[in-house]
Amino acid sequence: MNVTFLGTSAANAYPEAFCQCKNCEQARELGGASLRKRSAALINSDLLIDLGPDIMTASFLHSRPLTHVRYYLQTHAHSDHLDPSHFLSRSPEYGVIGAPRLHFFASHGTLEQLANRLEADCAPDGFLSPQAGERLNVTVHQVEAMQIFTVGPYRVTAFPANHDPLVDPLLYAIEANGHSIFYGTDTAVLLEETWQALHEYGLHFDLVILDHTYGPDETGSDHLSAYQFIEHVTRMRQEGLMKNAGRAFATHISHPGNPVHPELVEFAVQHGYEVAYDGLVV
Ligand SMILES: [Zn+2]
Ligand SMILES: [Zn+2]
Ligand SMILES: [Zn+2]
Repeated sequence: MNVTFLGTSAANAYPEAFCQCKNCEQARELGGASLRKRSAALINSDLLIDLGPDIMTASFLHSRPLTHVRYYLQTHAHSDHLDPSHFLSRSPEYGVIGAPRLHFFASHGTLEQLANRLEADCAPDGFLSPQAGERLNVTVHQVEAMQIFTVGPYRVTAFPANHDPLVDPLLYAIEANGHSIFYGTDTAVLLEETWQALHEYGLHFDLVILDHTYGPDETGSDHLSAYQFIEHVTRMRQEGLMKNAGRAFATHISHPGNPVHPELVEFAVQHGYEVAYDGLVV
């Protein structure tokens, strides 16, 4: 399995186009890995996590066409992770040729919000109706926390995120060919029931991708801070939830508290983790 990071910023891009803070100004000067788009990731060439607002730009900028995407996992419905206009733009009536049927997996809360947002635009009969599915070339699968389900060649387990309960947010473990990945954003400290479930399901991750919204000098709240990130990775290693050679990557990195990429990497190296950047393939 390989993972391509299509975006690694939090709700603001990094630099946020309207912001003159020191970090944003420095990111503009440095360019490269310090330029972050809103979070999304591609597993192999067929599984997309989050239909974020920047995936079109990410696709051509990092030479990762989404033409083979058949499966799609949505973490939650916050607008930095879900731009419903992509459903229209990838549909046959917008002239798209050859896009395979999309199998779309999301929680009840996310599907409800999405249906509301799409109603006016393109699916007056409801996003979840068979008619809308045919028009948009999508099959919807509702999933819930603690459920194990099959997504094409992948075995996926959903976990509850500790995040805005109104959007019923999910985190995902994705397994294939003896390898496994944990994709954990957006979330504050993981719930004890999630830790327990990770053990019960016997998961041992090769790759842990975790929320790193707040920087080394900030405290976490609705998201993880750098030190909470470190505590989570340390606990995962101590409790055998990561393989010996398992790697941990920070994503969902926001501009006010996280320094530009090279400086954040320096900090991360000292604490035993790595920092994802847009276009990185692991
Ligand atoms: Zn977010
Ligand atoms: Zn800024
Ligand atoms: Zn969120």
